[in-house]
Amino acid sequence: MSAGPKGAPQRNAKIGVLAVQGDFAEHAARLRALGCETIELRCAADLDAALDAIVLPGGESTVQAALLEEFAMAEPIKRMIETGTPVLATCAGLILLAREVEHANGRSDSRAPFERAGAPGAIGTLPVQVRRNAYGRQLASFHAEAPLRSNKEGEDEAPNIPLTFIRAPQIVATGEGVETLVSVDEAPVAVRFGNQIGITFHPELDEDNALYQLFLGLIDAHA
Ligand code: GLN
Repeated sequence: MSAGPKGAPQRNAKIGVLAVQGDFAEHAARLRALGCETIELRCAADLDAALDAIVLPGGESTVQAALLEEFAMAEPIKRMIETGTPVLATCAGLILLAREVEHANGRSDSRAPFERAGAPGAIGTLPVQVRRNAYGRQLASFHAEAPLRSNKEGEDEAPNIPLTFIRAPQIVATGEGVETLVSVDEAPVAVRFGNQIGITFHPELDEDNALYQLFLGLIDAHA
């Protein structure tokens, strides 16, 4: 594909949106509004479509992991990410992408299918540890605003973006090379590691395009 002028939508980008469960339709609609072509990823063969980038949407990570395993999609997605394909993973998608996952109560449940990177259905390429359903009942869903940092801007000048959290995980530890893009109460809620962006909230539910633009910018870096 050819890159547009700096900051312009990537008109020809072909983005695969994992569509086995969750709010994939909202992501796809947002990306199409930015001029991208979107492909729903429902089986392993859908991954052969010369994709420029992948989106892993929110939803229910245990269900998504089971389906990725059943449809033999986790391994090929993992290989694509490891070879540089940009990925945007939100909420449940972040849980699939995380190298380590823990439960809110500290319990280690060996039956969970994606506890470790190598577990069935896990993708496990993002060096972070996440805690599922970490905000407790009262705060299970809430709205906030915080600045989106970039390499060039200090946080003071960075514009606020809207953040919608729905039974969100928390990023409780980050590995070397993981950059925090957005934080709330000093905890990261959006991170980047090379070609991988992982976020605990839902940009597909708010009007702001800044995170999508950042994601589409990774395609140029990979091309
Ligand atoms: N609580 C969900 C999970 O653990 C994630 C919620 C979401 O994606 N909005 O899978």
